[in-house]
Amino acid sequence: MEILKQLIREKGKCFDERILKVDSFINHQIDPQVMYQLAEEIARRFAGKDINKILTIEASGIAPAVFVGHIMQLPVVFVKKSMPSTIEHTLHTTVHSFTKDRSYTAVVSKEFLHDTDHILFVDDFLAYGDAAIGVMDLCCQAGATMEGMSFIIEKEFQGGRQRILEAIPSVQIESLAIVKGLANNIIEFK
Ligand code: 5GP
Repeated sequence: MEILKQLIREKGKCFDERILKVDSFINHQIDPQVMYQLAEEIARRFAGKDINKILTIEASGIAPAVFVGHIMQLPVVFVKKSMPSTIEHTLHTTVHSFTKDRSYTAVVSKEFLHDTDHILFVDDFLAYGDAAIGVMDLCCQAGATMEGMSFIIEKEFQGGRQRILEAIPSVQIESLAIVKGLANNIIEFK
Protein backbone atom coordinates (compact mmCIF):
# COMPACT_ATOMS: atom_id res chain seq x y z
CA MET A 1 0.00 0.00 0.00
CA GLU A 2 2.63 2.47 -1.16
CA ILE A 3 -0.09 4.98 -2.14
CA LEU A 4 -1.35 5.06 1.46
CA LYS A 5 2.13 5.54 2.92
CA GLN A 6 2.79 8.35 0.44
CA LEU A 7 -0.46 10.12 1.39
CA ILE A 8 0.32 9.75 5.09
CA ARG A 9 3.83 11.16 4.51
CA GLU A 10 2.48 14.08 2.47
CA LYS A 11 -0.66 14.94 4.42
CA GLY A 12 -0.41 13.33 7.87
CA LYS A 13 0.21 15.48 10.95
CA CYS A 14 1.48 14.20 14.29
CA PHE A 15 0.50 15.35 17.74
CA ASP A 16 2.22 14.59 21.04
CA GLU A 17 4.17 11.76 19.37
CA ARG A 18 1.07 9.53 19.67
CA ILE A 19 -1.76 10.86 17.47
CA LEU A 20 -1.65 10.89 13.70
CA LYS A 21 -4.12 13.19 11.97
CA VAL A 22 -5.18 12.24 8.47
CA ASP A 23 -8.14 14.59 8.32
CA SER A 24 -7.67 15.54 4.67
CA PHE A 25 -8.47 12.06 3.27
CA ILE A 26 -9.81 9.76 6.04
CA ASN A 27 -11.06 11.40 9.24
CA HIS A 28 -12.75 14.63 8.24
CA GLN A 29 -12.62 15.11 4.50
CA ILE A 30 -12.86 11.72 2.78
CA ASP A 31 -11.23 10.93 -0.54
CA PRO A 32 -13.64 8.34 -2.00
CA GLN A 33 -11.23 7.17 -4.71
CA VAL A 34 -8.50 6.50 -2.15
CA MET A 35 -10.97 4.97 0.30
CA TYR A 36 -12.25 2.65 -2.43
CA GLN A 37 -8.70 1.45 -3.20
CA LEU A 38 -8.04 0.83 0.48
CA ALA A 39 -11.27 -1.12 0.76
CA GLU A 40 -10.34 -3.21 -2.30
CA GLU A 41 -7.09 -4.15 -0.59
CA ILE A 42 -8.91 -5.12 2.63
CA ALA A 43 -11.40 -7.21 0.62
CA ARG A 44 -8.52 -8.88 -1.24
CA ARG A 45 -6.78 -9.86 2.01
CA PHE A 46 -9.94 -11.55 3.33
CA ALA A 47 -11.11 -13.11 0.05
CA GLY A 48 -12.04 -16.74 0.50
CA LYS A 49 -12.83 -16.35 4.20
CA ASP A 50 -16.23 -17.36 5.44
CA ILE A 51 -17.55 -13.85 6.23
CA ASN A 52 -21.20 -12.76 6.06
CA LYS A 53 -21.14 -9.34 7.73
CA ILE A 54 -18.91 -6.28 8.13
CA LEU A 55 -18.85 -4.67 11.55
CA THR A 56 -17.41 -1.26 12.38
CA ILE A 57 -17.69 1.44 15.02
CA GLU A 58 -18.88 5.00 14.47
CA ALA A 59 -17.83 7.39 13.21
CA SER A 60 -14.60 7.08 11.22
CA GLY A 61 -14.91 3.33 10.63
CA ILE A 62 -18.14 3.72 8.68
CA ALA A 63 -16.68 5.04 5.42
CA PRO A 64 -14.10 2.27 4.88
CA ALA A 65 -16.56 -0.36 6.15
CA VAL A 66 -19.24 0.68 3.64
CA PHE A 67 -16.78 0.46 0.75
CA VAL A 68 -15.60 -2.98 1.93
CA GLY A 69 -19.22 -4.10 2.29
CA HIS A 70 -19.99 -2.84 -1.20
CA ILE A 71 -17.01 -4.66 -2.72
CA MET A 72 -17.64 -7.92 -0.79
CA GLN A 73 -21.42 -7.53 -1.25
CA LEU A 74 -22.08 -7.88 2.46
CA PRO A 75 -24.19 -5.91 4.93
CA VAL A 76 -22.45 -3.39 7.17
CA VAL A 77 -23.39 -2.84 10.82
CA PHE A 78 -21.91 -0.02 12.83
CA VAL A 79 -21.62 -0.09 16.60
CA LYS A 80 -22.98 3.08 18.17
CA LYS A 81 -21.18 5.12 20.79
CA SER A 82 -24.24 6.03 22.83
CA MET A 83 -27.31 4.18 24.08
CA PRO A 84 -30.18 5.06 21.72
CA SER A 85 -33.55 5.05 23.51
CA THR A 86 -35.27 3.72 20.38
CA ILE A 87 -33.38 0.40 20.27
CA GLU A 88 -35.11 -2.15 22.49
CA HIS A 89 -32.79 -5.14 22.75
CA THR A 90 -29.15 -4.20 22.85
CA LEU A 91 -25.75 -5.63 23.60
CA HIS A 92 -23.37 -3.16 25.18
CA THR A 93 -19.86 -2.83 26.52
CA THR A 94 -17.60 -0.08 27.83
CA VAL A 95 -14.74 1.19 25.68
CA HIS A 96 -11.99 3.62 26.63
CA SER A 97 -10.99 6.17 24.03
CA PHE A 98 -7.45 7.39 24.51
CA THR A 99 -7.81 10.12 21.89
CA LYS A 100 -10.74 11.63 23.79
CA ASP A 101 -9.53 10.47 27.22
CA ARG A 102 -12.93 9.15 28.29
CA SER A 103 -14.92 5.93 28.31
CA TYR A 104 -18.15 5.41 26.40
CA THR A 105 -20.81 2.74 26.03
CA ALA A 106 -20.59 0.88 22.72
CA VAL A 107 -23.98 -0.47 21.68
CA VAL A 108 -25.36 -2.74 18.98
CA SER A 109 -28.89 -4.00 18.50
CA LYS A 110 -29.43 -7.75 18.93
CA GLU A 111 -31.39 -7.51 15.69
CA PHE A 112 -28.18 -7.04 13.70
CA LEU A 113 -25.64 -9.33 15.43
CA HIS A 114 -26.37 -13.05 15.75
CA ASP A 115 -24.72 -16.33 16.71
CA THR A 116 -24.73 -17.31 13.02
CA ASP A 117 -22.63 -14.28 12.01
CA HIS A 118 -19.03 -14.50 10.77
CA ILE A 119 -17.63 -11.02 11.16
CA LEU A 120 -14.97 -8.90 9.49
CA PHE A 121 -14.25 -5.82 11.63
CA VAL A 122 -13.10 -2.70 9.76
CA ASP A 123 -11.79 0.48 11.40
CA ASP A 124 -9.64 3.46 10.53
CA PHE A 125 -6.99 3.11 13.28
CA LEU A 126 -5.60 0.46 15.59
CA ALA A 127 -3.90 2.07 18.58
CA TYR A 128 -4.22 0.37 22.01
CA GLY A 129 -6.95 -1.95 20.73
CA ASP A 130 -9.74 -0.85 23.08
CA ALA A 131 -12.31 -0.27 20.32
CA ALA A 132 -11.46 -3.60 18.68
CA ILE A 133 -11.62 -5.47 21.99
CA GLY A 134 -14.97 -3.81 22.78
CA VAL A 135 -16.35 -4.97 19.43
CA MET A 136 -14.99 -8.48 20.08
CA ASP A 137 -16.84 -8.44 23.41
CA LEU A 138 -20.11 -7.55 21.62
CA CYS A 139 -19.52 -10.41 19.15
CA CYS A 140 -18.81 -12.74 22.06
CA GLN A 141 -22.05 -11.70 23.79
CA ALA A 142 -23.97 -12.38 20.55
CA GLY A 143 -22.18 -15.69 19.95
CA ALA A 144 -20.87 -14.36 16.61
CA THR A 145 -17.48 -15.46 15.24
CA MET A 146 -14.77 -12.85 14.63
CA GLU A 147 -13.07 -13.99 11.41
CA GLY A 148 -10.83 -11.01 10.89
CA MET A 149 -9.94 -7.46 11.86
CA SER A 150 -8.71 -4.82 9.45
CA PHE A 151 -7.38 -1.33 9.94
CA ILE A 152 -6.28 1.36 7.55
CA ILE A 153 -3.49 2.50 9.89
CA GLU A 154 -1.96 0.60 12.81
CA LYS A 155 0.23 2.40 15.32
CA GLU A 156 2.34 -0.58 16.27
CA PHE A 157 4.04 1.14 19.20
CA GLN A 158 0.74 1.31 21.12
CA GLY A 159 0.41 -2.49 21.28
CA GLY A 160 -3.19 -3.03 20.10
CA ARG A 161 -2.29 -6.05 17.96
CA GLN A 162 -0.80 -7.94 20.92
CA ARG A 163 -3.85 -7.21 23.04
CA ILE A 164 -6.21 -8.49 20.33
CA LEU A 165 -4.10 -11.63 19.82
CA GLU A 166 -4.09 -12.32 23.55
CA ALA A 167 -7.91 -12.29 23.42
CA ILE A 168 -8.27 -14.30 20.16
CA PRO A 169 -4.91 -15.84 19.16
CA SER A 170 -6.15 -17.17 15.82
CA VAL A 171 -7.76 -14.01 14.46
CA GLN A 172 -6.38 -12.60 11.18
CA ILE A 173 -5.33 -8.97 11.62
CA GLU A 174 -4.55 -6.86 8.55
CA SER A 175 -3.34 -3.26 8.60
CA LEU A 176 -2.68 -1.38 5.37
CA ALA A 177 0.00 0.89 6.84
CA ILE A 178 1.92 0.12 10.01
CA VAL A 179 3.52 3.03 11.87
CA LYS A 180 6.46 2.00 14.04
CA GLY A 181 6.72 5.27 15.87
CA LEU A 182 5.97 8.99 15.96
CA ALA A 183 9.05 10.07 17.93
CA ASN A 184 9.75 13.80 17.50
CA ASN A 185 6.47 13.84 15.54
CA ILE A 186 8.21 12.11 12.62
CA ILE A 187 6.25 9.27 11.02
CA GLU A 188 8.32 6.07 10.92
CA PHE A 189 6.78 3.18 8.97
CA LYS A 190 7.48 -0.48 9.58
P1 5GP B 1 -7.81 2.12 20.12
O1 5GP B 1 -9.16 1.75 20.64
O2 5GP B 1 -7.20 1.02 19.26
O3 5GP B 1 -6.89 2.63 21.18
O4 5GP B 1 -8.03 3.36 19.15
C1 5GP B 1 -8.76 3.18 17.99
C2 5GP B 1 -9.78 4.26 17.80
O5 5GP B 1 -9.31 5.52 18.24
C3 5GP B 1 -10.05 4.36 16.31
O6 5GP B 1 -11.40 4.01 16.10
C4 5GP B 1 -9.78 5.81 15.95
O7 5GP B 1 -10.99 6.46 15.65
C5 5GP B 1 -9.18 6.44 17.18
N1 5GP B 1 -7.72 6.68 17.02
C6 5GP B 1 -6.72 6.06 17.67
N2 5GP B 1 -5.53 6.60 17.35
C7 5GP B 1 -5.78 7.56 16.45
C8 5GP B 1 -4.93 8.45 15.73
O8 5GP B 1 -3.70 8.49 15.85
N3 5GP B 1 -5.55 9.31 14.88
C9 5GP B 1 -6.90 9.32 14.69
N4 5GP B 1 -7.40 10.19 13.81
N5 5GP B 1 -7.74 8.49 15.36
C10 5GP B 1 -7.17 7.61 16.23
